[in-house]
Amino acid sequence: MSLDLHQVRKDAYALYDQLIAWRRDLHKHPELGFEERRTATIIAEHLTSLGLHVQTGVARTGVVALLEGSQEGPTLLLRFDMDALPVEEENDVPYRSEYPGRMHACGHDGHVAIGLATATLLVRYREHLRGRVKFVFQPAEEGMGGALRMIQEGVLENPKPDWAFGLHLWNPIPVGKVVVQSGPLMAAAGRFDIDVVGRGGHGAQPHLTVDALVTAAHIVTGLQTIVSRNVDPLESLVLTVGELHSGSAFNIIPGQATLRGTMRTFNMNTMHMAQARLRSLAEGVAQAYGARADVRTEVIAPPVINDEQATRVVRRAAEAIVGPENIVTIKPVMVSEDMAEFLTRVPGCFFLVGARNEEKGIVYGHHHPRFDIDEDALPIGAALMTATALLAGQNGGERKE
Ligand SMILES: [Zn+2]
Ligand SMILES: [Zn+2]
Repeated sequence: MSLDLHQVRKDAYALYDQLIAWRRDLHKHPELGFEERRTATIIAEHLTSLGLHVQTGVARTGVVALLEGSQEGPTLLLRFDMDALPVEEENDVPYRSEYPGRMHACGHDGHVAIGLATATLLVRYREHLRGRVKFVFQPAEEGMGGALRMIQEGVLENPKPDWAFGLHLWNPIPVGKVVVQSGPLMAAAGRFDIDVVGRGGHGAQPHLTVDALVTAAHIVTGLQTIVSRNVDPLESLVLTVGELHSGSAFNIIPGQATLRGTMRTFNMNTMHMAQARLRSLAEGVAQAYGARADVRTEVIAPPVINDEQATRVVRRAAEAIVGPENIVTIKPVMVSEDMAEFLTRVPGCFFLVGARNEEKGIVYGHHHPRFDIDEDALPIGAALMTATALLAGQNGGERKE
């Protein structure tokens, strides 16, 4: 029996009700990073019922399962993230979050549902599967380092994946469309914290103080020149100061100020340059005003860069599942994704599945309290991931059929 990707598509759509049931149940019960215990239990139970060897408690709440194909071939890592956000849901829907102050506002509930459906389908298509599939249900994607922690706990060993694939439901793109492109897709993210230490005093006696607030204001202004004066004009960098805290009363000169912000770029050399410039600028400006700046910087995620050959495999899957006319190209986006931790170690492809629907009023962006997805995207995601896994083993993904 030869592999029929149209049948894969049909089988994914046959799981539609199940996909929605999974997704809505998870949506009602959102769990924050490293706390996804209920979510992990549901995942582990389903994967066990499929007969897979399941490992739980990887990076605290992560779940890993291995499916052996019927023939020799590459080892694939399929990654699905599962955490929610500290957001109060404002949607009035039957599947509204039941937990105050927590919401699946990024679509990771849909990713888990897609992952469970993909496992169901790949077990069914095992006779066509060459190599093996490692299902990785990852905790704490939202800026908490879940991917890196899974890697530290050995998720890239025994067996070592040859390729890694992941997806994101994506609301800037209409449902039915997908983004499958090689090269940079999402930015590296960095974070900085600056504590300015001066000497406080009376608002009427500035000459007896070292004003941390004025110093911090000059640091904010100075940091703007990193983008305008230090970056190669053909590279991109965003530097945002998102927090500035200082002072407690209108007539007191503050002796302390705290700044926090983020840097985004596609190039790690640019990131390291920006970190170094930020440090010397903040320290130098503070010194000029008689104060001191304590600077801490860290890289939160490297950039998501898709491998050409892996992207070709997903593209072939997408041509069969949604048709070539529905594969769209976007400009890389400045948000970050810790899928990048896998992709800097294993070649692979992260692709986007459109989930927007103007007619249904599903138009709010990721992390918005009224974020939602068009659930019609769920079978598309499951079919795409399944087809990708089945094609990847065929001759290293090279054309053959
Ligand atoms: Zn998010
Ligand atoms: Zn996300």
